Amino acid sequence: MYKRKRIVIALGGNALGNTLPEQMLAVKTTAKALCDLIEDGHQVVVVHGNGPQVGMINNAMAALSREDSNQPNTPLSVCVAMSQAYIGYDLQNALREELRKRGFVRTPVVTVVTQVRVDPDDPAFQNPSKPIGHFMSKEEAEHAEKTYGYITKEDAGRGYRRVVASPKPVEIVEQDAINSLVDANKIVICCGGGGIPVTLQGDHLKGASAVIDKDFASSLLAKELGADMLIILTAVEKVAINFGKENEEWLSDLTVEEAQKYVNEGHFAAGSMLPKVQAAMDFASSGSGRTAMITLLEKARDGIQGKTGTLIHL
Ligand code: ADP
Ligand code: MG
Repeated sequence: MYKRKRIVIALGGNALGNTLPEQMLAVKTTAKALCDLIEDGHQVVVVHGNGPQVGMINNAMAALSREDSNQPNTPLSVCVAMSQAYIGYDLQNALREELRKRGFVRTPVVTVVTQVRVDPDDPAFQNPSKPIGHFMSKEEAEHAEKTYGYITKEDAGRGYRRVVASPKPVEIVEQDAINSLVDANKIVICCGGGGIPVTLQGDHLKGASAVIDKDFASSLLAKELGADMLIILTAVEKVAINFGKENEEWLSDLTVEEAQKYVNEGHFAAGSMLPKVQAAMDFASSGSGRTAMITLLEKARDGIQGKTGTLIHL
């Protein structure tokens, strides 16, 4: 037996799929993996990404504006809020069902619509970098720039996409409510898609046109919850150096210092593995005994038991 841990789990794109039917199916597998940990006695808090979903919602709302001139374009912050509810609904439902199958008939699962404060002076606002939504031709991109004020960029030879700012999370607005729910042993889904980005304007929280990286939001959440562990579940079982090259090497165990050296050497791709390693380092260095792990969804249980995954620690 090992110690009951408080674990923040960050779910990557492969935990949810890319379309409505894919998500319906994917959440079943995801719920099984999460319930394995709950069954082992761990306290689990769930964060998820929203890349495909927020792009899909953004496109659907843009189509609405095209069809109906009374409907102005939907702010990105509202699209993130919609994605939290939609993904939360599917995950909440799948978790409830899986928990009931395993005899946890009274364990409530709850999704918290979560706002995350960002700094309006974050340099990310001057340099939008995160591609979202569908691919466009050059002409479509120019049209979207003119009509909706989008910023678009060419994405790796595959066409043009809208790019948005990805500022760092500063504060989780609903943190106290989340803490109360977790302390009361509810299964909480929160900070979906990195949280709804907002800036503080007096008493008002103003939605920002941005998408926060869910890996960074998870590490902030894990620190604020006093979690024992942050687990980032993604499409690879371990983190590699020389990834995709002949001398590729999969890593099982890294200190924060070693991880920093590999970051400096450029082993982790920006926008995919780099934010995960940085979020893992951030959490692991926030207190002794705190560890972070990056592994496959299906390997979460094995990872906690030390059998696989990449563990990052002080
Ligand atoms: P998620 O949806 O889980 O956030 P991403 O696609 O953003 O997933 O990031 C995971 C991907 O990062 C992996 O599938 C892999 O292709 C890529 N990757 C880039 N660099 C590395 C590396 N050094 N080690 C392992 N995977 C890497
Ligand atoms: Mg990602």
